[in-house]
Amino acid sequence: MKTVLETIDGGTGYLEKRGIEDARRNMQWLVAHQLGCTRMEIYTQFDRPMTEAELAPLRESLRRRGEGIPLQHLLGTVSFLDHEFKCDGRALIPRPETEELAEWILSWELPDDLKVLDMGCGSGVLGLSLAAAHPEWQVTLADASAEALSLSRENARALGLDRVQLIESDLFSKLDGSFGGIVANLPYVPEGDRAGMSKELEHDPDLALFSGADGLDLIRRFIPEAFEKLLPGGWLALEIGHDQAGEVSKLLGSAGFNDITIKSDLSGIERFPAARKPS
Ligand code: GLN
Repeated sequence: MKTVLETIDGGTGYLEKRGIEDARRNMQWLVAHQLGCTRMEIYTQFDRPMTEAELAPLRESLRRRGEGIPLQHLLGTVSFLDHEFKCDGRALIPRPETEELAEWILSWELPDDLKVLDMGCGSGVLGLSLAAAHPEWQVTLADASAEALSLSRENARALGLDRVQLIESDLFSKLDGSFGGIVANLPYVPEGDRAGMSKELEHDPDLALFSGADGLDLIRRFIPEAFEKLLPGGWLALEIGHDQAGEVSKLLGSAGFNDITIKSDLSGIERFPAARKPS
């Protein structure tokens, strides 16, 4: 009979041998998930014996984690700001830096009656977090991937946000009307970066990650279209890659945007450009 602590120690060693980063924390998450408790709660249960019925599925998820299946896919959820979101291979795994973008927008003083678009919504974390925090806003989520939209629809339902509109659209092709604000975490990884990427990234949809030689193909198309679809005085907020701030500022300027600012993420990378259409 193995205890919780012995199981964690054993699994940590297994994952370390397979080069999984943060092996102990990964193993703690998998054990907590199996026991139906939080990662913190397992600290009070180290001596609890684990039954074979608990160990068998845990061995299976440990094996899959060792093969590079992302932890978030094995847990099936990811927490993003104040909410839990369903997470699987239909959309990009939400990244911690994207929470910073949502937090930044939520810190702005914005009017109550606002039409907001999340372009390239993926699992829906950005648009749904904004909709949850601003019940009076009219929020639209759009994505070119029907699969991503089916995931964001499930997330909208689970959060009781059925009022949010979900539209399958290649950028603005299927969208009507104008918006007071647009947020977008579009694919921005250069094609050439594919070779050096970790195994885990193979489980994110290609469509959500890559966009041409410098990563900016889609963003280049998107910025002038977003300018057209914004109401006078409307804002645009983006997430971009680590060396794209200069180029994206230029794109925003030539599209006609004012008040261009780029906020850095917690690692000091210029990550979040924001701008305004002149009123
Ligand atoms: N930040 C992600 C990564 O580097 C990319 C997300 C995106 O392209 N929007 O893996």
